[in-house]
Amino acid sequence: MAGRQTAGGKGRTMARAVVVGSGFGGLALAVRLQSAGIATTLLEAREKPGGRAYVYEDAGFVFDAGPTVITHPGALEELFALSGRLLADYATLVPVSPFYQLRWADGTRFDYVNDQAALERQIAALNPADVAGYRRFLAYSEALLEEGYVKLGATPFLDVAAMLRAAPQLVRLESWRTLHAKVAGFIADEHLRQAFSFHTLLVGGNPFATSSIYGLIHALERRWGVWFAKGGTGALVAALVRLFGELGGTLRLASPVAEILTDGNRARGVRLRSGETLDADIVASNADVVHTYAALLGHTARGRREAKRLSAKRYSNSLFVVYFGLSREVPEDLQHHTVLFGPRYRELIGEIFDGPGLPDDFSLYLHAPSRSDPGMAPPGSSAYYVLAPVPHLGAAAIDWAEVGPGYRDRILAHLEAHAIPRLGETLQTVRTFTPADFAGTLNAHLGSAFSLEPILSQSAYFRVRNRDDAIANLYFVGAGTHPGAGVPGVVASAKATAGLILDDLGRRSAA
Ligand SMILES: Cc1cc2nc3c(=O)[nH]c(=O)nc-3n(C[C@H](O)[C@H](O)[C@H](O)COP(=O)(O)OP(=O)(O)OC[C@H]3O[C@@H](n4cnc5c(N)ncnc54)[C@H](O)[C@@H]3O)c2cc1C
Repeated sequence: MAGRQTAGGKGRTMARAVVVGSGFGGLALAVRLQSAGIATTLLEAREKPGGRAYVYEDAGFVFDAGPTVITHPGALEELFALSGRLLADYATLVPVSPFYQLRWADGTRFDYVNDQAALERQIAALNPADVAGYRRFLAYSEALLEEGYVKLGATPFLDVAAMLRAAPQLVRLESWRTLHAKVAGFIADEHLRQAFSFHTLLVGGNPFATSSIYGLIHALERRWGVWFAKGGTGALVAALVRLFGELGGTLRLASPVAEILTDGNRARGVRLRSGETLDADIVASNADVVHTYAALLGHTARGRREAKRLSAKRYSNSLFVVYFGLSREVPEDLQHHTVLFGPRYRELIGEIFDGPGLPDDFSLYLHAPSRSDPGMAPPGSSAYYVLAPVPHLGAAAIDWAEVGPGYRDRILAHLEAHAIPRLGETLQTVRTFTPADFAGTLNAHLGSAFSLEPILSQSAYFRVRNRDDAIANLYFVGAGTHPGAGVPGVVASAKATAGLILDDLGRRSAA
């Protein structure tokens, strides 16, 4: 500790932290630690920050690689408020309406809006009896939001006692039932059952297997809205990077970590792939949890054991994403967010999560950010991405280099027929990101897009804990740890992890 600065001149030695990975979780944790006076270095393997929220720029088009539906902006605002700042001074959030447009193969459309009367009108048009059921579902979803997110989202589940304390509420809310089963208990119409259960797919959960607790996403969207950052989600990443820099934090890009250095049951720093070593009192990993144990801690018995244990768990599906720019404006009837359901729902989702191959049909999510912000593309043009949930590399042995181009063309042809006329003749630029890229570029185990599958037996205490059980100053943040994937989830995980770190340093009051 010799030779280090002291915090606030109080004679206390300033702790040094290293955070591995600059996804939303890593960035949020780095901001929290630096805000609390911990000298924090954020190490990112790629040449740009953001992780799954990376940004591609091709021929004047801006493509957010991953998260596009920004919910609960208050969680991000909190990161700025820690140092008396305002998110609004760093990025501009605009509301998106409808939240999504849902389209089915039979021609049915549903505008998923934040207006009770407009929602009920559309529900009544599909099945009048479901209006009352929807009201009950909304009340249920609000109760889930309070218990599962507001109270427990940023609570680290380090021991069985924490789980037992939460158990009565989770039992009362029947969280052992699947989301689809709960929704089906409230709502009869098949379109509406899909409309109110597909949300788990946004965080890597199969609505037919995931705990009904994820029904909270509906109330989360209704309570705090769906937002888009002007300039794209990348503008939020840039805002956090700027904040972290202003606080005095150090971000190092193109700095892959090769090893977490240990001394018995303590982490003492990291070694970069370049050979350089960095000492630290605290090491936190935002990288994939299996990668962290298998590759970064593979030199320890603990790392090898945990990697083996975690490899046997269930992982979320992967995604096949196509980013494309067109020399035409967004079609008049195309909203910012569209879900195009395929002809099958339960069966398709089953094959996406369990393989054994690539299904012939698909359900798609189409992002058209130019609808909200023409600046995402050159004048008169428009930027898009379309994603299809697909099996991860362990569920289906697909050679993506071979299958990818044909799959991409089928998806684009489907969009041309059903959503964007003249797509082919106006195509300016196109790139894809496949399960093999999730594995190779992001070190994601099996190419999973969302890490551990969010099923009850892999949630809270049963997920990777925010602090390692054996290496006392090694922490986790991000999709693989509690509470899980999605921007609000990983930002909440940063709050849980920062709280633990500050507790461990005897500094809770600074959290
Ligand atoms: C296509 C797509 C769309 C999505 N849409 C939404 C959405 O609309 N709304 C929403 O809320 N969520 C969405 N999600 C989920 C959400 O994006 C993720 O759950 C979240 O961003 C993951 O953040 P994270 O903190 O876990 O880190 P990640 O984003 O996974 O970042 C981890 C970082 O660690 C780095 N890293 C890995 N290994 C090393 C190493 N050895 N050394 C240094 N760095 C390393 C990686 O390069 C990466 O930058 C989407 C995800 C995807 C893939």
